[in-house]
Amino acid sequence: MTLESCVITEKKSLLTVEEAQQRIHDAILPLTENVSVPLKQAFGRVLAETVFSTIDLPSARNSAMDGYAFASENFVTTLTNVGISWAGKPFEGELKKGECVRIFTGAVLPENADSVVMQEHVTVDDTQIHFPDDVKLKKNIREIGEDVRVGDVLCNAGKTITAVDLGLLAASGIESVSIIRPLKIVYFSTGDELVPLGEPLTRGKIYDSNRYSLHGLLQNSCYDVTDGGIIPDDKAELKRTLTQAAHDFDVIITTGGASVGDADFVKEVLAECGDVNFWKIAIKPGKPLAFGKIGACYFFGLPGNPVAVTTTFDIIVKPALARLAGTNVIKPWQFKAICTTPLKKSRGRQEYQRGVLQQSDSGEFYVASTGQQGSHILSTAILANCYIIMPNNCTDVEIGETVTVISI
Ligand code: AMP
Ligand code: MG
Repeated sequence: MTLESCVITEKKSLLTVEEAQQRIHDAILPLTENVSVPLKQAFGRVLAETVFSTIDLPSARNSAMDGYAFASENFVTTLTNVGISWAGKPFEGELKKGECVRIFTGAVLPENADSVVMQEHVTVDDTQIHFPDDVKLKKNIREIGEDVRVGDVLCNAGKTITAVDLGLLAASGIESVSIIRPLKIVYFSTGDELVPLGEPLTRGKIYDSNRYSLHGLLQNSCYDVTDGGIIPDDKAELKRTLTQAAHDFDVIITTGGASVGDADFVKEVLAECGDVNFWKIAIKPGKPLAFGKIGACYFFGLPGNPVAVTTTFDIIVKPALARLAGTNVIKPWQFKAICTTPLKKSRGRQEYQRGVLQQSDSGEFYVASTGQQGSHILSTAILANCYIIMPNNCTDVEIGETVTVISI
């Protein structure tokens, strides 16, 4: 084969990022097993069932202001204050012609009252309350059910519960909710060169940094995460470890050994003890990326290079885990930004170059490269707050050209 036809064959065997994402999406069956928890414990978790309201919010007509309440049909510009309606201690009884009550925010309105005037807009003379000539009637009232009606959806199944959701559910009297059980994830590093922190580095050895990046990337209250340690470049041991892990976990993530070197066994082992869905993506950094299943366990074999790990995690693994955890996967927002540094790129793979995105006072987005883009260069990757997405057929970008970015 000529070099050119080799390149073409290689490109054909690579899935595009979108194809890989679609295949993962199609292969993944979201978890449905659920548990009921007290409301506070649902924070950050995925709701298993849609929650409906059993009450109206507000459940009684109440005042939106501190002021004076009256019935507009009985209004005259001076009213007699006949009592107080406090939040939690309503004024009982109807208001007669010429009467009003002092009322505070959140206090229930007397039966026939339909107007509240702010206290700042009246003049008080003992029990006589003088209203302005241009007084507006039927204002500052919160109507029954104007927020939520009985039977309305409060939160849909699949929603990741936020602080505001907790507030709405609590306001509706919901004490406990059903959430998807946590996703059990284990990650391993692979490689004979890896040394755990705390041990001295001898010649040819490097510290295992990928397990630390993954520790950070996997912080999520929907995940129950285990650090599986380092697996040496030993096929039998890799096979043993992964087979065992597949029994105990929903997801296995490995880094390293996913490529075609003589010490790269991940794809082979996956093929022998499970099913390979794909193992190469036209992405940079991160071409060798194996996805498949071992029994019922999903498997992601990420590349070894540290920046390829974090990038492929963000682009490929993160949405997959979100889907598996039962949540509605939301595509990250894309921005158009003007490039302020030149970018080098050759055709063939979709690149996710690390960039620093800034917004000018007038609202335009500008992006600069973080510098060296090698997949082993962590010191520039840490500067990034975005990925600059450069499609397969895109080549070098000059200063002033518009590029697409997503925030990290
Ligand atoms: P591999 O995919 O195993 O060929 O590894 C590619 C590159 O990533 C090599 O330079 C490895 O030494 C490096 N690498 C692999 N695993 C790790 C890790 N856990 N921490 C840091 N570097 C790693
Ligand atoms: Mg290796």
